[in-house]
Amino acid sequence: MPELPEAETIVQGLAGPVTGQEIQGARILKADVIQGGASAFRNGVLGRSIRQVSRRGKNIVLTLDDAHRLVVNLGMSGRLLHRSHQDPSPPPTHPAVIMELGHGETLVYHDVRRFGRLHLMDAPTYGDWSAGLGPEPLGPRFTAPRLAADLARSVSPIRSWLLDQRRVVGVGNIYANEALHRARIHPQVPASRIPSSAVPALHRSIRKVLRDAIRARGTTLRDYRTAQGDQGSYGTQLRVYGREGEPCHRCRESIQRIVFGNRSAFLCPGCQPPPEE
Ligand SMILES: [Zn+2]
Repeated sequence: MPELPEAETIVQGLAGPVTGQEIQGARILKADVIQGGASAFRNGVLGRSIRQVSRRGKNIVLTLDDAHRLVVNLGMSGRLLHRSHQDPSPPPTHPAVIMELGHGETLVYHDVRRFGRLHLMDAPTYGDWSAGLGPEPLGPRFTAPRLAADLARSVSPIRSWLLDQRRVVGVGNIYANEALHRARIHPQVPASRIPSSAVPALHRSIRKVLRDAIRARGTTLRDYRTAQGDQGSYGTQLRVYGREGEPCHRCRESIQRIVFGNRSAFLCPGCQPPPEE
């Protein structure tokens, strides 16, 4: 499932090619990915220019010249691909929406499982939606003191806390597990039981794994691709996620997988002691 580094990589790959381009056509092949109705979507984007490409958490945000925002949530398997005229790579196998730009270029929303959503919002709706989300973990509002104060108010297991987009955006299961291993915190420790002395390491770890993953252009386990259709390479740097039974790089204990909150969590029993009862 694409998280912040994957969305950021797509934003970086789209900003150059599509900023300033007019959306001249919109073919909706799978209307179930459109939130708010296909005809309203088509009417809303046709003839509009893309003024800016940005990101809010895991969502890609295209700002149009009428200040509407096209918010793309990639769900489990979505891709947002820029294709130039006579692109030599094979055409996408599961296109859901094809937006035609100038010069034969297209912006294709591709989604095999179709849990992703495209939502066209007017400026006030976008503002309300964004205000309901937590701070950007790489932004100035996400500080260690704020994190400590927010954690102190919740008894949720820390892994679940990190996945809650109202607390902090963009962190999904891969990077939550990786950050907790780096910070030596067990995924099931209640947020409020993390000592304030341990919070700076957690804060640092979250930012480090996200930054390193952006540098590697994200993690491709299956479906994720960059805007140009390439795979991300952070998978080789994962320390716990998907490494059940393999040795911890730090202490050589076997990585464990546990399940709670309907999701797998990966941890090193040597580095991440379980919460005391
Ligand atoms: Zn270890």
